[in-house]
Amino acid sequence: MSKFFEKKCKKNVELAPYTTFKIGGLADYFCVAKNADDLVEAAKFAKEKGLNYYILSGGSNVLIPDEGFRGLVIKVKSSKLKVQSDLVDVDAGVGLGQLVNACLENGLCGLEFLAGIPGTVGGSVYGNAGAYGKEIKDYLMSVRYLDLDKLEIKEVLSDDLKFRYRYSEFCNKNRFILSVKFRLDRCDNVEKSRSEIKRILMDRRERIPEEPSAGCIFKNIMDNVVGVLEKLELSEEDKKKYLDYNKVPVAILIDQAGLKGKQVGGARVSKKHANFIINKGEAKAEDVIKLINLIKDTVKNKFGVELKLEIVLLD
Ligand SMILES: Cc1cc2nc3c(=O)[nH]c(=O)nc-3n(C[C@H](O)[C@H](O)[C@H](O)COP(=O)(O)OP(=O)(O)OC[C@H]3O[C@@H](n4cnc5c(N)ncnc54)[C@H](O)[C@@H]3O)c2cc1C
Repeated sequence: MSKFFEKKCKKNVELAPYTTFKIGGLADYFCVAKNADDLVEAAKFAKEKGLNYYILSGGSNVLIPDEGFRGLVIKVKSSKLKVQSDLVDVDAGVGLGQLVNACLENGLCGLEFLAGIPGTVGGSVYGNAGAYGKEIKDYLMSVRYLDLDKLEIKEVLSDDLKFRYRYSEFCNKNRFILSVKFRLDRCDNVEKSRSEIKRILMDRRERIPEEPSAGCIFKNIMDNVVGVLEKLELSEEDKKKYLDYNKVPVAILIDQAGLKGKQVGGARVSKKHANFIINKGEAKAEDVIKLINLIKDTVKNKFGVELKLEIVLLD
């Protein structure tokens, strides 16, 4: 085995503790990448050994199978963050909370909507994380990444990443995000932004279950919004609101299909927010998958709507 492996990798590592769902079996090999060099080394090592590899950051949007992963899991823990004027250059492994705080400390505003999302910069750019009507792409300038086919480091402008709702080009390309540049606004009033963050964190505490989960399981509905709204029991005021957003929250369909609180093994549809599946303590990935399929089938039969997954299933 190489020096890289001896220094940075372990064998047979349980993945559940590295995810917010607290679910998942063993990885054959596991390493922590603390900077871009480590990421490049890890990728090279996996390629040389012909190993499958998977990049895991905050682990807050993934479901890892009970059988674990046959190959190398690379946990991103890079942590550099540099502010220059209105530009923030930040490593993929930095947590969103840390990013938002650092921006405010430097009088830069815009990313407050990310407060409370338990992911990292890399995972959030990958899936274009968003909340309160904003998305991470809105402030993104460029992304530095490792092209895994050529093992070359490149930089791409945000406009070339084909962002849309919970999607970026990274979702189907063989690329590791190394670092990201944001261009932000100078704050008119930092205290106002801090109050905004407090309000967001309180709102999230009220709406989001405390139990382990991977966030929203399904994507909200953006197609045929009028047709879907016709099938739901909603006040005229709510219908108008969702028409204006051009988006129907999936939680409403799951709730109106009678699935709130539905449980398979240790996995349950949250009673607080029906688009969350929570781990009641001993949930297996298999329980979650069965529950996902049950929700999909029930919603399809009742409303004719095909639900699409927001979480990433590792296979
Ligand atoms: C309680 C809770 C609330 C949440 N609320 C929200 C919300 O309001 N809005 C929202 O959008 N999401 C939300 N999420 C989901 C999740 O936090 C986000 O999707 C987050 O951006 C995922 O980041 P991560 O670092 O945890 O990614 P991970 O879960 O580690 O990875 C997600 C995907 O990105 C890939 N990836 C990660 N890092 C890299 C990298 N450096 N290069 C290439 N690929 C990479 C992984 O391989 C994986 O496919 C919530 C989750 C939880 C548990």
